[in-house]
Amino acid sequence: MSASSFDVVIVGAGSVGVPTALACQRAGLRTLVVDRLASAGQGENKAAIGGARATHSDPAKIRICLRSLQVFREWKDAEGDDIGWKQGGYLFPIYRDSDEKMLRGLLPIQHGHGLRIDWIGPREVEELVPGIRREGLLGATYSPEDGQLSPLEAIDAFYRAALRAGAEFRFGEEVREIAVEGGRVTGVVTDRGRYSCRWFLNAAGSAAAALGRKVGLDLPVHPDSHEAGVTEPVARLFAPLVVDIRPTPGGKNCYFHQDTRNRIVFCLTPDPIFPGTERQSHSSFLPTVSRKMVDLLPRLRGIRVRRVWRGCYPQTPDGMPIVGEAPDARGYLFAVGLCGQGLMLGPGLARDLASLMTTGKPVTDLAAWRSFSLGRDFGRVESLR
Ligand SMILES: Cc1cc2nc3c(=O)[nH]c(=O)nc-3n(C[C@H](O)[C@H](O)[C@H](O)COP(=O)(O)OP(=O)(O)OC[C@H]3O[C@@H](n4cnc5c(N)ncnc54)[C@H](O)[C@@H]3O)c2cc1C
Repeated sequence: MSASSFDVVIVGAGSVGVPTALACQRAGLRTLVVDRLASAGQGENKAAIGGARATHSDPAKIRICLRSLQVFREWKDAEGDDIGWKQGGYLFPIYRDSDEKMLRGLLPIQHGHGLRIDWIGPREVEELVPGIRREGLLGATYSPEDGQLSPLEAIDAFYRAALRAGAEFRFGEEVREIAVEGGRVTGVVTDRGRYSCRWFLNAAGSAAAALGRKVGLDLPVHPDSHEAGVTEPVARLFAPLVVDIRPTPGGKNCYFHQDTRNRIVFCLTPDPIFPGTERQSHSSFLPTVSRKMVDLLPRLRGIRVRRVWRGCYPQTPDGMPIVGEAPDARGYLFAVGLCGQGLMLGPGLARDLASLMTTGKPVTDLAAWRSFSLGRDFGRVESLR
């Protein structure tokens, strides 16, 4: 194999591309990752706030995130790096009957997949999050095996593990064209040169649709932008990641956790959404999110915010990822549209992608896997997306 010849070329050193490079290289595939930015995780990965849960309602997401959680949980012992993992669980405190009904309705599906999640009463909620608004609190779902990690430390750890395994990375290089001959991918053309390969993986995050069009694929990935922030470190106040799904003016929901360095990391799902890739912080973000958070947990009042940022969800019409192979360009794989869950799906999905390349089948069972298909009905929207 020549220096510019690889089994697989991955576009995107992000939440999906880096763990997939590690999985591919460890599966014996000579792997190259190309990213137009300067280092790993500089796309949407670094915007994530670090929430990782398997408590979804879609079976494929549940199974894949269970695998990711195992990777996060075991990483320090297996590989030696601290990725900021904390098994703090996820808590959805509930104040409206309709929300209680929706979350309780998901429990049988979640229990059917062996997930540890239960409805808990107001007193237990207060024990987990002391000082939480008591008025109108009906209870919560609580899943103690979900957790939180540092997106920056995790991607750096995956990147270094991929390098150790023998994967190659080219930064500051942009993929421009995909070469297809006789209906099969043969190579990738960048602004610096050309690489031949048998497999090409589009893991380009918010730019995935443009790379799909290179081979006539219509990948419905439309980024919308979300803001997040981090406070100064304070005393330990609570362990779980808290998701407040009460809508308020300007915000559909907000979620926050206290990381292993005791900082509160928080994020808002804006209402209405901001379509596009705008990355300038907006003056409405901090007033909206802080009002919401202090209303839920008044003892957060007065904690100083250190930094805010804005990134994108690579969004799909139904909130589900799109993963598969291009019908007219065999060997062109795509793992795109990770929406607000790419960090938690990445390592689990990486094993599916490496398996697709080496065995022709994902690790996830095929019935569940179909919910990621490009040919699905995008009109159905997952609860709890
Ligand atoms: C505020 C916020 C909070 C979030 N919180 C969470 C969370 O708590 N948990 C969670 O799981 N997810 C969270 N997310 C979502 C998560 O960040 C994304 O789903 C995830 O990062 C997407 O991963 P990706 O690999 O698809 O894309 P990225 O990580 O963006 O990687 C794609 C890479 O492709 C590169 N690229 C694109 N086109 C080309 C090209 N032509 N040539 C070369 N390189 C190219 C880009 O430079 C980029 O580095 C959050 C997102 C935001 C914005």
